[in-house]
Amino acid sequence: MLGATEPAETVTRATVPPSVEPEGGNAAIITRRDMLAGVGAGLGVAALSALAFARRDSRLGPGYQFGEVGAPVPGSEVPCTAGTLTSSEPEGPFYTPSAPKRRDIRDPGVSVGVLVLTGRVLDTRCRPLARAVLDFWQTDHNGVYDNQGYRYRGHQYTDVDGRFRLVTVLPQAYTAISIFRTPHIHVKVQGADTPLLTTQLYLPDAEETNARDLGYQPSLAIRYTERDNSSRGATFDFVLARG
Ligand code: FE
Repeated sequence: MLGATEPAETVTRATVPPSVEPEGGNAAIITRRDMLAGVGAGLGVAALSALAFARRDSRLGPGYQFGEVGAPVPGSEVPCTAGTLTSSEPEGPFYTPSAPKRRDIRDPGVSVGVLVLTGRVLDTRCRPLARAVLDFWQTDHNGVYDNQGYRYRGHQYTDVDGRFRLVTVLPQAYTAISIFRTPHIHVKVQGADTPLLTTQLYLPDAEETNARDLGYQPSLAIRYTERDNSSRGATFDFVLARG
C-alpha cells in the first residue's frame, strides 16, 4: 500500500513567537458571529461566501527556517512549463500557525483513504527551490478540522532537488458557516527568496463537488499517478517567482 513504508519521523514543533500571529489576531478570523452579522445586514449567499474568503494571509514568520534541507524524496520527473505561476487561493478561517514539522500528518494507524502527494517547488524557469517550506493543513477523513490541536497539519522543507512528500488522507467536503467546500488541501509555500504563496489543492475525481464550489480551480487539481483500493499516489508542482 502506498505510504505504508513511510519512515518514522521525528515530530518537532516550530517555535513561533507571538509576533507572528495573524495580524489583528482573532479579529482577522471570519467567525460565525461575523456571518450572522452579515445575514442581519441582508447580505446574500455570494456576499457571505466572499466574506468567508476575505481573510488576510497569515505570514509564516521566523519560526519556519529556510536553512534546513528536507530528507531526499524519490520521485519521477514531471515536465515543468516555465513561466506559469501557481495560482493563489484564500487562506480561509482554519489556519493554525506553528504546526509540527512532519511529512506524515495522518492520525496514527490510519491506513485507508491514504493520499501520498509528491512534487516539487520550482521557480518560473523550472529551477528547483531547495529549503522551501510547505505548511499543509486539511480536514480529517470526516471533513473536520482540528482547530484546537495539530491533527492533519504539518510543515516540511524541500530537499536539494526541490522535492516534497506529504502523506495524509484524502480530504473530505464540508460545510462551514453555511459555505460548502469541495475536498481540498490548504498549503502555504515559500522559498528563501520568494513571496509567500497561499493556495489550495483539489482532487481531480471530485467532479460533482468541485462543480459546486466557486473556489475550485482546475489548475490546482493534483494529478493521480497511482491508485488502489485504499490509497492514492499523486503529484503537484508549485511554481513561485523569485525576488
Ligand atoms: Fe478548508
